[in-house]
Order: sequence, then structure tokens, then C-alpha cells
Amino acid sequence: MSTPLQDILAQRIRDNGPLNIGEFMAEALTHPQHGYYMDKDPFGRAGDFTTAPEISQMFGEMIGVWAADLWQLMGAPESFIWLECGPGRGTLSADALRATRHVPGFHEAAEIHLLEASPVLKKAQAQALAGFKPVWHETLETLPAGKPLILIANEFLDALPIRQMLKTAKGWEERVVATDIGGTGLVYASRDLTSEDRARIPTHITGTPEGTIFEFSPARDLFIKAVCRCLREHGGAALFIDYGYERSAPGETLQAVRAHEYVPVLSKPGESDISAHVDFGQLLRTARDSGVHTLGPVPQGRFLQTLGIGLRAQTLAQKASSVQREELEKALHRLTDSAQMGALFKVAGLYYGTKTVPTGF
Ligand code: SAH
Repeated sequence: MSTPLQDILAQRIRDNGPLNIGEFMAEALTHPQHGYYMDKDPFGRAGDFTTAPEISQMFGEMIGVWAADLWQLMGAPESFIWLECGPGRGTLSADALRATRHVPGFHEAAEIHLLEASPVLKKAQAQALAGFKPVWHETLETLPAGKPLILIANEFLDALPIRQMLKTAKGWEERVVATDIGGTGLVYASRDLTSEDRARIPTHITGTPEGTIFEFSPARDLFIKAVCRCLREHGGAALFIDYGYERSAPGETLQAVRAHEYVPVLSKPGESDISAHVDFGQLLRTARDSGVHTLGPVPQGRFLQTLGIGLRAQTLAQKASSVQREELEKALHRLTDSAQMGALFKVAGLYYGTKTVPTGF
């Protein structure tokens, strides 16, 4: 059984030729009618996947502590932009803001802005953040000018489209999505690389065997450059938390998840979450080339421990029932343990204009 989006994409490929992986990923996630994120709430046990803020309130609370501390280090500006990118259900911002409500002046100074593509999730965010009058954006270009920025993005960069190069018998080519012989199924193929794209292959990976895949993400690079522009113009910091790797390296990380199981990437586009691990090495290089200071990446577990998640869990446990205490313990392990999310998930910070370095690194 094909999906409506598969039929649309197959038609487009028959008319105009194959799509690169980035084009496929963008359509699969954000096609206006059938994109995965556009018409559903994918989170939680009944959904397709669970994220850190949905595991425990402690995650957002720690980010709140980080941000309030940073705001004070920045000299407690009277007004700043709190921007969360890809806020999902709005849980992280809601927990962060609740945790900081007693920080004198912080809420008065915070203007809440959200970068979000999904109409369904915007509604959930409006509910979670009722009272904070959030303003939504689809691009950084529409953010108000003249105010420092505190940007938070958890599991956002992994949703920005990547492209793939494939080492074939003929050398490096671009991996693309084509149609099968019947003209309706989607299959992988490859085609020549442009010389501009060829120049992206790091020299240390040129001698790799046939079948090797190298991922790159012009969309992420552009986004990071735009964030750096905002930071350079108005000061502030950005925090990126995501699954990913520290050093640019070959290997396929593109994945599709449905109902908490991995599924083939090209099957049922629009009905599974497609993402790819973040190349933190590339992220930090792009930021440094854009004239912004960088921190990390550090493992999520260490970052949360440094901010005091252990102590927070103890405080919450004091007022909890034994069942709740068990849940707290489980959540703490899930977020911080190296065998769970603690090491695969990493945290990188970018900052500019603040003499003081953000904490947690
Ligand atoms: N940060 C949340 C949700 C992560 S899922 C959490 O941790 O629970 C990814 C989020 O990014 C969703 O809100 C999705 O709708 C949004 N998103 C994905 N691609 C986007 C894009 N191109 N522009 C804006 N938002 C996007």
C-alpha cells in the first residue's frame, strides 16, 4: 500500500527525475498536506517516539536553570528573546519557564518566540505556554531585531534535511530517490555529483571502499549560519541538544521511526519520522567560521549532571510516592546514563558578545 505522499513524489520523479535525499526528507517531514510533522502529534507511548522533555520535567527545568544563569551572566538585560526551535508539544519551554518563575526579573525580560512548521504542534505549544503569549516563526528572519537571544533546540537539527554521497565503482556520486520499474515504488539510485558538492568530501575520507556513504547537510549549515548572524548582531547564546557524532566521518545515520520501531526510510513517506544524526564537528566549524564562540559537544548526561539534575531528582523524590520515586529514578537514568541517552545525545553551545561563558560545559 502506498501513501498519498508516495504517489505525489513518484509522479514528481516520473516528471522531473530523481530527488536528492534532502528533497525527499523535506517533503516527507514538512509537505504542507502530508508531511509527517504537519498533521499529527508524534510523541509519547501512543505515538512514534519519545524525547527528553517528554520523559521528565527535570530536563526542561535544567535548561531553565542554564538559561536564567546565562541571562544573569549577560548582565540581566531588561528584554531578551527566548527562542525555542522545533518545540514539539512545548513541554521544554513550559518546564523551563516554570522552573525560573522565582528568578527576579527573568520572566519580565523574556519574550517567548517559537520556530515551528507544524500547525498541529503550534496548537499544542499554544496550550502548554498559555499565559506567555508566544510568537511563532517559520524562519529566523522574522525575529525582532535589537534584543539578545537565548536559543534552545532539542532534537531539532536532526529533522533538518541531509544529503548523501555514495562511493560507487565510478567514484563518489550523490545518492538519490528514484522510482522502481513499475514507476510507483521508491528506490535508491545515484547520479553524478556537481563539482561544488564534490568539494565537500573531507580529504581524510577519500580512500574509502565502495558502498560507503557520507552525509552532509547544507540546510543545517545555512540554519547555523543564520543563528550565528543573530548572535553576532544582538549577542546571546544558543544551545543545541541532539543525537550525533563529534567528528565528521563516513557512515549512514539516516533513519525512519514509526511506533518506536525502525522502518525502511523510503517506505510510507509522511507516516514515519525521518531524521539523521547531527555532525557536531561540522556544526562547530560552521559556527567558528561565522565568528561565534563554541562550546562542547559534551555528553548530555554530563551536561545535566553539571547543572544539578541529581539534586533536583532528590528534591522531587522527597515529596513523591514510592511509585513516583521509582519513575524519577528511571527518568534520571534514561536521561543521563551512557548506555541510554546520556552519551549518544550531545550538547553544543554557541555564544557571542557575553564576556562570561555559559555554564554546563
Ligand atoms: N523539541 C521537541 C520536539 C522535537 S521533534 C522535543 O524535544 O520534544 C522536531 C520538532 O521540530 C517538531 O516540533 C517539528 O514540528 C519541528 N520541525 C521539524 N522540521 C522543521 C522545520 N523545517 N522548521 C520548523 N520546525 C520544524
